Amino acid sequence: MRCKDRILTCVPYSAEAAPDWAFDGSSTGMASTDNSDTKLKPVCVCKDPFRMEPHVLVLCDVYEGGSNKPAKTNNRHFCNALCEKYRDEEPWFGLEQEYTMLDVDGWGLGWPKGGGFPAVKYQFSYCGVGAKYIAGRDISEAHARCCLYSGLDFEGTNAEVMHACWEWQIGTSVGMKAPDDLWLSRFIMTRVAEDYGVDITYHPKPMGMLHPGVGMHHNFSTKRMRSDGGYQFIEECIKRLEANHMKHMKNYGNDEATNRMRLSGKFETAPFEKFSWGIANRKASIRLQRNIKEKGKGFMEDRRPAGDCDPYLVCGMLLETCLGGASSSSSKSNPCKK
Ligand code: ADP
Ligand code: MN
Ligand code: MN
Ligand code: MN
Repeated sequence: MRCKDRILTCVPYSAEAAPDWAFDGSSTGMASTDNSDTKLKPVCVCKDPFRMEPHVLVLCDVYEGGSNKPAKTNNRHFCNALCEKYRDEEPWFGLEQEYTMLDVDGWGLGWPKGGGFPAVKYQFSYCGVGAKYIAGRDISEAHARCCLYSGLDFEGTNAEVMHACWEWQIGTSVGMKAPDDLWLSRFIMTRVAEDYGVDITYHPKPMGMLHPGVGMHHNFSTKRMRSDGGYQFIEECIKRLEANHMKHMKNYGNDEATNRMRLSGKFETAPFEKFSWGIANRKASIRLQRNIKEKGKGFMEDRRPAGDCDPYLVCGMLLETCLGGASSSSSKSNPCKK
């Protein structure tokens, strides 16, 4: 994430009204110095919770200068095309972003200085209350207020199992609004934490193998899954996801190796290499709600994505695999990733 500020003589209340812009792509390692202008194309506008009205935040995606080619990191382009293609299926997403607060020394917020570990038992930290069990609630609260002010589909928060680890949820959102709001809410979180001198990391295993990992569960449904008889279609989708398991795993985090550390089979995770699914099973790759069989319809929870995944990639791949029936040998997925 990066940001810069622009003073205009009018307020662009929509992405269409916001002007295109550019930045120095050679300073970000995305272009050569002799051809550095890299394009910013506004895609979403929301109220700026820091400066407040009439100021706005403008989310942009990035295109190479001199062409209309999406930049290598621009996975939004890929996801948007799939959301358009499957618009009639009415995809809904609910994203659970976990994250860890670090002090400026890089160690967990509220963790003993000099590399020590919290003395408390972790079962009291999940949804915990009390300074002994949790750290950084003021930041989580300020973030929630900012996201609501900005009009994001912000659903809730909870303290996580690991001390100084938290979660917020974006959803239940239609199509692109989920990953767009997730990226905006990540920006707002990192920006809020700046004011507290706290660093936010989405690293999937920030404190080593003895401590819990950090993920971003993707809850997903389509009109067909939510309609009577949808359970059968959900089972079909699960089979497709199983056939494409490793293809998804390669794109479910910023770095395959660190998500592999997280998906160890411990701390409520399924092993990285092995696809599984189950009802009410938090040790499965895909979890379904307890009452899904009785209801005959519902949604699925993909528990595999790392905390630092790109939700544009994950949402796009869920649509592509479940609705397109892509085969495991297909290589047309994700044209934007190296
Ligand atoms: P847990 O921590 O138990 O996995 P959460 O309450 O944190 O559950 O997250 C559940 C998520 O499921 C929410 O983000 C919500 O938006 C999402 N969700 C609920 N119903 C649907 C649905 N029909 N389609 C897609 N997502 C859904
Ligand atoms: Mn959750
Ligand atoms: Mn969680
Ligand atoms: Mn979950």
